[in-house]
Amino acid sequence: MFGLRFPITTAEHTRSYYAATAPGRKRAPLGADIEADVLVVGGGFSGVNTALELAERGVDVVLLEGHRIGWGASGRNGGQVIGGLGHDPERFRRRIGAAGVRLVHELGVECVDILRERVARHAIDCDLRWGYCDVALKPRHLRWLQQEQRDQSARNYPHELVLLGRDELRDFVGSDAYVGGLYNPGGAGQVNPLKLCQGEAEAAEAAGARLFEMSRVERIEHGATPTAYTAQGSVRARHLVLCANAHLDNLEPRIAARMIPASTCIIATEPLAPGLAREILPRDVAVCDQRTALDYFRLSADRRLLFGGLCNYTGLVQENYVRIMRRKMLAIFPQLDATGIEFAWDGQMAIGMNRMPQVGRLAPNSYYIQAFSGHGVAPTHIMARLVAEAICAESRRFDVISAIPHRAFPGGRYLRRPAMALGMLYFKALDYL
Ligand SMILES: Cc1cc2nc3c(=O)[nH]c(=O)nc-3n(C[C@H](O)[C@H](O)[C@H](O)COP(=O)(O)OP(=O)(O)OC[C@H]3O[C@@H](n4cnc5c(N)ncnc54)[C@H](O)[C@@H]3O)c2cc1C
Repeated sequence: MFGLRFPITTAEHTRSYYAATAPGRKRAPLGADIEADVLVVGGGFSGVNTALELAERGVDVVLLEGHRIGWGASGRNGGQVIGGLGHDPERFRRRIGAAGVRLVHELGVECVDILRERVARHAIDCDLRWGYCDVALKPRHLRWLQQEQRDQSARNYPHELVLLGRDELRDFVGSDAYVGGLYNPGGAGQVNPLKLCQGEAEAAEAAGARLFEMSRVERIEHGATPTAYTAQGSVRARHLVLCANAHLDNLEPRIAARMIPASTCIIATEPLAPGLAREILPRDVAVCDQRTALDYFRLSADRRLLFGGLCNYTGLVQENYVRIMRRKMLAIFPQLDATGIEFAWDGQMAIGMNRMPQVGRLAPNSYYIQAFSGHGVAPTHIMARLVAEAICAESRRFDVISAIPHRAFPGGRYLRRPAMALGMLYFKALDYL
């Protein structure tokens, strides 16, 4: 239909550059009826970091992942490590107060710090590098970035932010496409996300968490001791944390309605000659533009250009996306005309109505984390910490963030995706003005 297809669901990792180069250690499926203090469902950044935070606090945790650790968005994303939680928390001032808005900004910094400390403390080999450029395609975008720099300075953002004009940006991005940018040398960067997720899973296990793969939860019984059932076993726990994100399906309809799964695609070139890599990204920064239908790109550790974008709010994937993505890449870097594409893959991200990550309780002992709206590599780390704090009876920060309201998408289970896709067409049209 219109050259669109459903995402291909594989039991193993999708055929991404990450999975091809770092598939990770396999874990056994759950094969018995067991008990734990806390059961975490979902082995992406949200679930793995919840397990790690809890295990480090001495809590007995079991994590069930339906496929492989990092199989979902966490193991196939653009690897852009960006601070900040969602968009414009000022909108919620009446609900969470001035202190709450301040907290959102603080957590937006802390999430990157957690990732930085975690990689250092557990010596995770995940190609983490610092340096990030928001780029402007139009003068209007550059004005937004100027405003962002002023706002961050007023909030005492702890990292330097450097506004770059067209010529200065050429030292960072070898393209004529941009009129300027905002360079963040130390507070944002890039990572191999699958390696990061796998390293964090190893750290959780070293701290005592029990992780099972190929263990899809088919049914949950809520109550004083929530119990989750897979095809071959069950886990009975005192607390439950749902971190299934865009792959939740209908496991928990109350929170499924608050997000829509949207697709986005990435292509990876063959390794570039050192001179060509230096020409297109001389400072090896991660880059993202300012449009609703944005492009994001960076170099892998072995000098491939990873170029992502093409967000589709129906959740479907364009059949010919490799050709479209290559065209987009060449519009920015025509010097890659003779360069081959070696990997191409898509993934599902969960979009919320207000674009703020969703964290909350379904019952006093039942929690969820979801809907990072395409910006979750770092923010998942702080949401996991908030839930771990709440489970360990320190819920002050969790209470503030979980008070942010999240409405269900109109249109119900079947119509909410096309309704959202239509709405987004309007914003995408604005990109062209
Ligand atoms: C292509 C792409 C590019 C992106 N680029 C960036 C980026 O550059 N920077 C950024 O900050 N963010 C990016 N994002 C968003 C980011 O990857 C996500 O916000 C983040 O990884 C969400 O992590 P998560 O753990 O909440 O969900 P996921 O990583 O999706 O994990 C959910 C897991 O739950 C499992 N699961 C689901 N149902 C069940 C069940 N019933 N039983 C057991 N397990 C189950 C799934 O198998 C899956 O592994 C991107 C997303 C995509 C898809």
